[in-house]
Amino acid sequence: MCDIDIDETCDVWVEKTVKARKEHQCHSCHLTIEPGKEYLRLFAVFEGQVSTEKICASCRRDFEAFKAEHNQYYYPSQVDLMLQNCIDDAETFLESAKWRRRLKQLERRRERSKLQVSTDTGRMSAKNPVKSNAPKEGSHDG
Ligand SMILES: [Zn+2]
Ligand SMILES: [Zn+2]
Repeated sequence: MCDIDIDETCDVWVEKTVKARKEHQCHSCHLTIEPGKEYLRLFAVFEGQVSTEKICASCRRDFEAFKAEHNQYYYPSQVDLMLQNCIDDAETFLESAKWRRRLKQLERRRERSKLQVSTDTGRMSAKNPVKSNAPKEGSHDG
């Protein structure tokens, strides 16, 4: 494994498995974490800065794999930096391939998350100009 060394150590680092009660967004891949699904919540304090990040089950597997190999953790929003680091520093082809596969899967989830967003806003696009009986713009009070 690569000897990655994160010199910034958090003062507080708490990991907790939580069941989503409402929709959340994964900080690693940006996919929606649906209500009822389990996710990992990370609570960290670093130099007085509090941050909470959430990761979906798929990203958690990458996170756990990384932790097991390096005895280090990372902010989920920085996952690609960490995986890239492992790929660049890998000593063997097999090792770099392993992390490259994870990075690729992460990118695929990111692509999917973009689609998720675009179906939401897609309706608003000018593809089908909507003929509506919406009232004409009037004067707004207040
Ligand atoms: Zn994710
Ligand atoms: Zn590594």
